[in-house]
Amino acid sequence: MTSSLRIGFGEDSHRLEPGGPLWLGGVEVPHDRRLVGHSDADVLLHAVTDALLGAAALPDIGRLFPNTDATNRGRDSAEMLAAAAAKVTEGGWRVANLDCVVHAEQPKLAEYVDTMRQRIADCLHIDPGQIGLKAKTGEGVGPVGRCEVIEARCVALLESTDQPLAPG
Ligand code: MG
Repeated sequence: MTSSLRIGFGEDSHRLEPGGPLWLGGVEVPHDRRLVGHSDADVLLHAVTDALLGAAALPDIGRLFPNTDATNRGRDSAEMLAAAAAKVTEGGWRVANLDCVVHAEQPKLAEYVDTMRQRIADCLHIDPGQIGLKAKTGEGVGPVGRCEVIEARCVALLESTDQPLAPG
């Protein structure tokens, strides 16, 4: 019997360079650096997108939105997440919950976490109560600690919309 639950994992990192804007979790965070990438380089939304796609065994974000396609240049990652979520829904899955971690030495993100959860929830048409998000530093060590990169990780649990969960 096919399981009615699927887990997925997404991970991403982007390099920082001077200048703004810094997009994280669909939120423009005031900072004097920005993430470098073909799209808006929103590392958290990319990790969420890949976790959902992975759980549904769909092609990853790089295959769905290749950086060789000029239409993806500077693209809003929230739009890519919503498009990926639509494919997950078409595949017969809904999001049970997400749990995410962002590793950034600077800026401090605690005050933006709830806004990011709401933005991600809006993209996925779910409740922010289904999204965990932690902001961590690199403790001054490694590429994160030296403010060279910001990294993000996400696990996602999907449940089938075709099969009811077994009664408890
Ligand atoms: Mg990325």
